[in-house]
Amino acid sequence: MAVDKHINFFELEKACEKPGCPLCGIVADRAERYIDNMLFEHVSDRKFRRAHRLAGGFCSYHSRNLESFRDGLAVAILGRDILEERLESFKSRKPWQRKEHCPVCAERDRIEIEYLGFLAGAGGESAEEQELRQVFTRSEGLCAPHYGRLLCSWKRIPRWITEFHDRKFADLKQRIDQFIELSAYGRQEEFRALEERDKLVWKELALALRGNVD
Ligand SMILES: [Zn+2]
Ligand SMILES: [Zn+2]
Repeated sequence: MAVDKHINFFELEKACEKPGCPLCGIVADRAERYIDNMLFEHVSDRKFRRAHRLAGGFCSYHSRNLESFRDGLAVAILGRDILEERLESFKSRKPWQRKEHCPVCAERDRIEIEYLGFLAGAGGESAEEQELRQVFTRSEGLCAPHYGRLLCSWKRIPRWITEFHDRKFADLKQRIDQFIELSAYGRQEEFRALEERDKLVWKELALALRGNVD
């Protein structure tokens, strides 16, 4: 295995030990670090500055914490670019339009493809792949957006991955059916007898459908 594959492997394994979709966990972590690096290291990088300006800055989701970053000067320099564009559009009374994707969203996209590709290629029998399989199938598995993207982007996906997720989503469907059925009038006794996790399965569904990154 190449060195970068080792990194993917360890990062995935670590993410699998936490609750939620492992890929959502990785993306959220990396996005945070990316913004931090961006603000500290790339504020003088012309290419980045241009992309950032054309994007009108980060999207509202990724700029939600900018005011709490340590480096006020970097936020000011990047923000001034955007403000200048906005002033132009105010003057001309023409609505400002985004011409590039938010740089963090673009980075998120790149990370998703990298890790989904890594998973799609993890159908072998090497020691690392076997370990990944074990750790991954103990995790909550991919959220619906990430599993959908995996299925639509790669033709060949290891069977252990499709079997695991097919089971996961079929089980979720069955527990949601049960939750709705037992929520009907007259079935309170049966509802009360449900396990706690089955009483809260609607929360699990909401998270599985949305994923945990924007
Ligand atoms: Zn996800
Ligand atoms: Zn974004």
